[in-house]
Amino acid sequence: MESTIDQNCPICHSEAGLKLIVHSSEIPYFGEHTEMTLVCDSCGWRHTDFIPAEGKKASAWSMKISERDHLNIRVVRSSSCTVRIVELGLEVEPGDNATGYISNIEGVLNRFEDAIGIILRSAILEGEEGIDTISACQELISKLNLIKNGEEVTEIVLLDPMGHSQILHENAKNWDLSDEEISSLEVGPQIPIMDSSDLTE
Ligand SMILES: [Zn+2]
Repeated sequence: MESTIDQNCPICHSEAGLKLIVHSSEIPYFGEHTEMTLVCDSCGWRHTDFIPAEGKKASAWSMKISERDHLNIRVVRSSSCTVRIVELGLEVEPGDNATGYISNIEGVLNRFEDAIGIILRSAILEGEEGIDTISACQELISKLNLIKNGEEVTEIVLLDPMGHSQILHENAKNWDLSDEEISSLEVGPQIPIMDSSDLTE
């Protein structure tokens, strides 16, 4: 299903409206869900999110990554999800450009590695002043590679105030977030959807 919604683009503020593409499907273990993508034709901004049919409760997921096989574990990361690699002290919070994705643990680690690679390259351009950043980035990248080779153990945590994210493995731990935790988390851009209060106005 495709439609246009009367919302300005959050990035370029185009008033042409955003395209909304909605489709429902089934993800093994995650269940029936709706995938929604917002697109701005003016600047190319895209925003994808996954809304499960059930289990929408602010929650955290955690998985200990200790062997190579764990790289294949499926991960559903919605745009409201904060991702942490605990042992490396790394965290990605949902920003304005946060987008949902379905991947696996390896894909999550690669996204961190790509982000560190961008910081590393700009530090190299800084020359002398970037030296501390360069060595910090190189250390993180080598630790990420040890994790990918199953030579170092880490815990990956998803924190999602909207409850749309999940680590799809029988050993993954899942717990409810406290009100305090919920209020300290970013939720990123939300797809504006009419709720019943809009209809009664
Ligand atoms: Zn735009």
